[in-house]
Amino acid sequence: MFDFLVNLFGTIVTVFFVVYLVLLVILQSKKKELSSLNTFINMNKMPVLRPIPIPTANQQLLLNKLLVFIFQVRRWRVEEAFIYEYEGKQYAVHAGFEFDGASIPKALWALLSPVGLLLIPGLIHDYGYRYNGIYVLDENNTPVWDKTILTQSGWDELFKDIGNDVNQIPILNEVAKFGLWLGGFQAWNKWRDKKEDRVPFKWKIDNETQTDSESLKKAPEDDVDDIDTMSEQDMSSETFDSGTTKTTQIGYVNNNNQKVLGSRNLDETDKKDVTFKMSCGQCSEIYGAKTAEIHRRKCPVCQEGKPSVNW
Ligand SMILES: [Zn+2]
Repeated sequence: MFDFLVNLFGTIVTVFFVVYLVLLVILQSKKKELSSLNTFINMNKMPVLRPIPIPTANQQLLLNKLLVFIFQVRRWRVEEAFIYEYEGKQYAVHAGFEFDGASIPKALWALLSPVGLLLIPGLIHDYGYRYNGIYVLDENNTPVWDKTILTQSGWDELFKDIGNDVNQIPILNEVAKFGLWLGGFQAWNKWRDKKEDRVPFKWKIDNETQTDSESLKKAPEDDVDDIDTMSEQDMSSETFDSGTTKTTQIGYVNNNNQKVLGSRNLDETDKKDVTFKMSCGQCSEIYGAKTAEIHRRKCPVCQEGKPSVNW
């Protein structure tokens, strides 16, 4: 029996190794073909994540450092609300959500890393396991708590479906879903025991919640940052604020690389008159745009967009 197991294990490892070597040889002739596919990737659709430090430095004992190093995995904080559209629903993960892919059983990580191909399905799956619900944007881009999925197997199914949508390797997602069926109950039960309340939706991380605001300050971004700093410190009538929807948040960038810098007439009685200060990511032009046109606004200078309005 023992011999049989050793033989089986040896055979499996050998087969994997041979397959790997064959693929490695094929890779050499395909390098150019593979890299040109990068042009399909739309960076705007990727989540904005900040790695959370792994706390080895603040451990006194070497043994403790070692335990943290071996057993603690990298956690990530979602810095801007992450929206993923699937079958007509806009799933929304709030800014500030911390995840580590732990709803994917660790035994699978060697082959299927939660920060590899499974990043996006894993992020949404972690969220679903944790709160057993998720925000969905309604037609006004307002986040609404959605309780359509209420079971572990429901979240696993969504994981597989979003995986197929994102990475388009159905067999991989099927294997991952099987892994969830085998080992996902640990994470699921942990969160059901904790009974955490859902968190109010946030589009962006507040500056106040940043532990070390000086060191975490973003790299200067020409005039854009000056405006931010001014509006925070002076509190003058020049304050620019975010609106209530996704596309009116300060820092929102549309597909044409046009960035929202905020509005100072949000209290306008006719909401159609509310305007936002914008900046162009291509040529740095500063101009004004109406609320409704922000999501598809083009720069008036370099993209033949509409002329600027008062802001
Ligand atoms: Zn421009």
